[in-house]
Amino acid sequence: MSAGLNLAQLDAVNYVSGPCLVLAGAGSGKTRVITHKIQRLIQVGVEPKKIAAITFTNKAATEMRERAKGLIGKAAKDVVICTFHALGVRIMREDGHVLGLKPQFSILDADDVVSILKDCGGTTDSATARQWQWTISLWKNMGLNAAQAAAQAPDDNARVIARIMALYEERLTAYQSVDFDDLIGLPLKLLAEHEEVRAKWQKTLAHVLVDEYQDTNATQYEVLKHIVGERACFTAVGDDDQSIYGWRGATLDNLKRLPVDFPNLKVIKLEQNYRSTSAILRAANNVIQPNPKLFPKTLFSELGEGEPVRVVDADNEEHEAERAVARIQSIRAGTSSEGMGQYREFKDFAILYRANHMARPFEQALRRAQIPYKVSGGQSFFDKAEIKDLCAWFRLWINNDDDPAFLRSVTSPKRGIGHQTLAQLGTFATQYKLSLFESLFASSLPSAVSSRAIGSLHEFGRFVNDLEYRARHTLGKEAAMAFLTEWLKDIGYEKHLYDGEDNEKVAAARWTNVLEFCDWMAGRCGGEIDDASGAQATVSKSLLEVAQTISLISTLNEREQEQNVVTLSTLHASKGLEWPHVMLVGVNEGLLPFKLGDDDEHSGRSDGPMSEGILQRLQEERRLMYVGITRAQRSLAVSWTRRRKKGREMVAALPSRFITEMALDKSTAKEDPREKLKALRAEFAKRAAEAAEVKS
Ligand code: ATP
Ligand code: MG
Repeated sequence: MSAGLNLAQLDAVNYVSGPCLVLAGAGSGKTRVITHKIQRLIQVGVEPKKIAAITFTNKAATEMRERAKGLIGKAAKDVVICTFHALGVRIMREDGHVLGLKPQFSILDADDVVSILKDCGGTTDSATARQWQWTISLWKNMGLNAAQAAAQAPDDNARVIARIMALYEERLTAYQSVDFDDLIGLPLKLLAEHEEVRAKWQKTLAHVLVDEYQDTNATQYEVLKHIVGERACFTAVGDDDQSIYGWRGATLDNLKRLPVDFPNLKVIKLEQNYRSTSAILRAANNVIQPNPKLFPKTLFSELGEGEPVRVVDADNEEHEAERAVARIQSIRAGTSSEGMGQYREFKDFAILYRANHMARPFEQALRRAQIPYKVSGGQSFFDKAEIKDLCAWFRLWINNDDDPAFLRSVTSPKRGIGHQTLAQLGTFATQYKLSLFESLFASSLPSAVSSRAIGSLHEFGRFVNDLEYRARHTLGKEAAMAFLTEWLKDIGYEKHLYDGEDNEKVAAARWTNVLEFCDWMAGRCGGEIDDASGAQATVSKSLLEVAQTISLISTLNEREQEQNVVTLSTLHASKGLEWPHVMLVGVNEGLLPFKLGDDDEHSGRSDGPMSEGILQRLQEERRLMYVGITRAQRSLAVSWTRRRKKGREMVAALPSRFITEMALDKSTAKEDPREKLKALRAEFAKRAAEAAEVKS
């Protein structure tokens, strides 16, 4: 073994003269092979700029560059380390002119695309336009243009979308713009149809390394094939059990085609897992076991048995979040054996869930405990525009000199104070070294500010002062709720949301966020609450105090610059990463696996036959669970709730079948595992029903 590589890894690293596939389970050092292979290629004389390492996300690219820097120093900056899309941008900037695209073409983001589609389809409904976008994107990923999509459209709806796609494509050309999918599709067209371009790129890149190969789609594979050409010097690393982007067009066919398209492909398997304890690895293996094996592989770990995987049940989402926070606190305090003296920093923890919206109760519980965190792979609840608006007002009460908070609250909603007035106020404030708020009451405001505007400014200032005074003296939940309700009415916030948004559904969702946020804040002001240990406590705090803790945590987060913070992430965005302590939350039937069908009979909960489509979705969900489990290095807790919020109601919920399967050790189970599973499910269902009864 040299430089922290085992023999199989060394094999993969040293083979530089042809096509190579490293196929191995989670945590076996695939990504590590890529970084070391970059170093090796440079050692054998390949110029750094002729090496390309393709990652799945920008974040992964940044991380890989850091690691490469550690191995090869300055040369790392010349290596092409980026996503497929970023490589696509580079190809198009250099050679897009061949297809009539200017080098300074613009790249549309999802919002731009939606608004163009609304235009093309003659609708103002964002939700519909988003569905079109989704379908068009899928077609593009399958390599279909509008005409081809129309030709094979199965129904009227698809034909309509294909027509809109044609209009949309015309628009993009007229605007000299491309969308995200074009960043793969257009380079492919270029490489496939223009020999001189293809030859150029084959010369430009001497060796291509692809991480997370199992989640590439058909067009990406074609791009890769053209770039590596006859010489076929490339290294792909992947794990078929971690393919979780099938819904976005990724296909395992890319793995199957590799040995066919490249008969001299060297396939290397890695079997040792360096990331997780044996207990965690066993749980992972048990969960993935029922899936069909594309390539059989076994994983072992030498990190010891470790702590058993914990299964945590909670009453509801809030309770689940409190328990997660309590777990973090006890591991950090060393009162739990899982801390083991190390791995006790905030950054050593991750909370992973199926869907973005599930982060909210965890964010709230973490804020309450003043634990810094970041939400990756999705938007934090506290980053939503409407929540930021409200927080700006609170920040202004707490610190009148907070200029950004002033500007945000004075314009949300607008209150007859125009941009010009604000600009004049700004100039004045800078000149006299005052904050914007202080300048409001200055007697010498510039004469250019109209007396009407001055009146509005004064009124705003008095309003804020008055709110601040009252918030200081508002104690307890009821009073806080009354205060917040009246204030929102005063400033006309609901109307502001509906006026600013074409789509009523979107506006309604925003307003719901606002109400929920206020409800949560009021709850923090008093009444009976569960404290972190689950005990009941009675508190009474002023609204101003509560507002203060909330803004404190946001500055805390900013100061920490996302360094030493707890990670909240979707399972999808957690791919490739690792943390000492992982909590998988919301592991309930219907969430993970995600609702598979309308009818339980066909959803796989019964033991009857499943349809092919549902079976495939269940398999992908299983891989998602496998990805989640294998992020954990030292400790893993899996939690589920007996009841969950569904709209405004609480409904009984069941633990995920994966929880039962996780504990089913095939190697030790003597009885028919299906029987045991059935019994366990029945037991869980009984407990869930009882719990729901007690509560309601
Ligand atoms: P995933 O499938 O989740 O992407 P992976 O196969 O890419 O995992 P890596 O992230 O490369 O695995 O490695 C997992 C962990 O094991 C990392 O912390 C890495 O540094 C470590 N590791 C890998 N190989 C070795 C080795 N030979 N010796 C010591 N540690 C290793
Ligand atoms: Mg990896």
